[in-house]
Amino acid sequence: RIVYVNGSYLPEEDAKVSVFDRGFLFADGVYEVSTVLEGRLIDNEAHLVRLKRSLNELQMESPASPSEIVEIQNELIKRNGLNEGGLYLQITRGAADRDFAFPKNTTPTLVMFTQEKNLLNSPAAEKGISVISVEDIRWGRRDIKTVGLLAPVLAKQAAVVAGVDDAWLYEDGYVTEGSSNNAYIITKAGTIVTRNLGNEILHGITRRAVLELANEADMEVEERAFTLDEAADAAEAFVTSATTFVTPVISLDGKAIGDGKPGPLAKRLRQLYIEQALES
Ligand code: PLP
Repeated sequence: RIVYVNGSYLPEEDAKVSVFDRGFLFADGVYEVSTVLEGRLIDNEAHLVRLKRSLNELQMESPASPSEIVEIQNELIKRNGLNEGGLYLQITRGAADRDFAFPKNTTPTLVMFTQEKNLLNSPAAEKGISVISVEDIRWGRRDIKTVGLLAPVLAKQAAVVAGVDDAWLYEDGYVTEGSSNNAYIITKAGTIVTRNLGNEILHGITRRAVLELANEADMEVEERAFTLDEAADAAEAFVTSATTFVTPVISLDGKAIGDGKPGPLAKRLRQLYIEQALES
């Protein structure tokens, strides 16, 4: 695999980042994961807008303009012959002697790599996934997509140990989001409910696209916090993210949601999302 690091395209074994990189020492960096379908980036502009916002919130400069980033992304897709999968992009504040405050005159580190993956043909989406609830112990700015991901790492590991697919994070009894996706329930009355935007969750690019599609399809949508009890009592549930699109959730904490199978609205939204992505 060819990866990109600070201006160079290199075989992955030759790519190097300093041990003093602040991403490594402080998780002082941000990232994005864009989807690639049929060799093309999906909704990439929205990812770059969010990247800019994350950088601004951390008072960090981008080492490349959006158009330069797109050029690198497409070059990397080409060099790796990537047809379907994800493109990971990370910017850190760069390398400097270890000190908490921002260093002066440091060049940010820009890294990108591709991950080949079957996204359209997904057994998890066919079968639906099972989740457990895990307390959300993350920091107060989850709207910034930082590389500080220890809490979701622990949540996902707890899911693996419990023999399920993923974790839904909760705070004060309310679901915030999944370990690496936005979380939704569909009530027995047919209303799609997902956490409202704020500092408590990541503002998902797929979330925005899916809510738009739901509105266009005249589905009822409520953006508000919902409890674990409401989720347990829901007709359907699902999650969204760039590389998993819409994936049905069929059980929570060992209890089936609805009839324990992927629900019709979740399946329809997945189909609508994929159709739109392939047409874009
Ligand atoms: N929430 C969290 C915590 C995430 O890490 C992610 C992305 O991986 C998402 C939501 C979904 O965001 P997007 O749809 O932009 O991939």
